[in-house]
Amino acid sequence: MFMKRIKALIFPLILVGTLVAAGCAKKSPDATGLVKLTDRVYAMVASGPTAAEGLGANSGFVAGDDGVLVIDARYTPQLANDLLKAIRSVTSAPIRYVVNTHYHPDHSWGNMVFKAQGAVIVARPETRDALLKYSPAYLEFYKERSADVYELLRDVRITAPDTTFGDETEIDLGGVKVALRYFGPAHTAGDCVVIVPKDKVAFVGGLLSNGYHPNMGDPGADFDKWIAARDRLRASKFAYVVPGQGKVCGAAELAAESRYIATIRNQCEQDIRKMVPLEQAVSTIVIPGAETYLQPNLLPFNVQAVYRREMMRVVQPDFAIDLPAEFQIADGGGTAKLGFIRWAAELKEGSLEIDTQWKVTSSREVIVQDVADVVARYSKTGNVDMKIEGSKRIDVGGEKAIASYGSWALKSAAGIPGRGVWTWTLVIRGDKIYSIRLVADAGGDRKGALENLAYLEKLASTFRIKPRAS
Ligand SMILES: [Zn+2]
Repeated sequence: MFMKRIKALIFPLILVGTLVAAGCAKKSPDATGLVKLTDRVYAMVASGPTAAEGLGANSGFVAGDDGVLVIDARYTPQLANDLLKAIRSVTSAPIRYVVNTHYHPDHSWGNMVFKAQGAVIVARPETRDALLKYSPAYLEFYKERSADVYELLRDVRITAPDTTFGDETEIDLGGVKVALRYFGPAHTAGDCVVIVPKDKVAFVGGLLSNGYHPNMGDPGADFDKWIAARDRLRASKFAYVVPGQGKVCGAAELAAESRYIATIRNQCEQDIRKMVPLEQAVSTIVIPGAETYLQPNLLPFNVQAVYRREMMRVVQPDFAIDLPAEFQIADGGGTAKLGFIRWAAELKEGSLEIDTQWKVTSSREVIVQDVADVVARYSKTGNVDMKIEGSKRIDVGGEKAIASYGSWALKSAAGIPGRGVWTWTLVIRGDKIYSIRLVADAGGDRKGALENLAYLEKLASTFRIKPRAS
């Protein structure tokens, strides 16, 4: 049951999100802070990965005769004000636009500073929607769990984009034109790249983290399209690529990050096929070349995100199941003879797990054996005390099924205390047996655990167990 470990795996709320094109080496900056790329184009390269440094997120600006366009507004009001000062050290032209390459807080929470200067904030519609949807919860998270970081963010007023654009738009700043192009979904659903065509500069936002682990956990991410987007960028032969994080770079770094993504995906696919549990997949991942990348806390987060994404594709469950958004795939694996997927959710009043298995069988005898057997095994070998208390009928996808039920508690004093109730249902369809285990925890409160279990049973009644046509 190990719920706490599963929780730790699924809820690390992480916000995030050597150069040089051949022949440009002399001009290529290998610096942090304000970096002049061309007469009109500047990058603001974050000094490091800490919250005070903006989680490593870069920004930049293009200075025209008639106005300035800012690319990404940085993470905190302080950092946005630093950027404003840097702009003023170069030009006194009005700041007309801020483009958010995507919605992640380290790229958008400084919007308020530029809005106060009269700038129009521009982004893709997906970016505006996600910024409005997720930002309040992110801020709340810091407020509750990270006083140090919240101190940097307490003055943030979430400021959404004022206007959105389609696949492409062009902005004339007077003497220099800037193109905004949609490259999503990739790192997020709404990735946008800001290009200064004449100067061959591209600000690629979340599409590239140079020397940092990329953040692959966004719900809107699309890994195939992300790699394709990088290929398009490489083909464009920009003189300077300003990544979302890390130093200004070129085509080689775009390729390196595509290899990173491919490595995680291949490893996760193999692990799922071999039924290696997620926790082990996380602890054994090796990505050649990424050993020195900054923000290493993102690596386990990335493996979890990819493993869960790949799960449904690799395992191809035999049944349909619709779960509310708070449930995430926590573990699983599968072969032709046995498949299993575990979903878990942490709710305010406790945590919930739905564990489904299916296997080929021809004997109903196996049902009783399975439950008794597994319960005995837990009690003997694990640190979980799991008891069968009886059986009852529950409704699974419109069908009555016999379910065993009981209670569980962690034995080990060293473990995080946990107790709750479970029920285990077996359903036979054709030559397959499906087992559905529901586990509810309410922090030691049995009444709460029973309420959670009732909720899980209601969810189980929406399962549609339909064997795939073979
Ligand atoms: Zn990001």
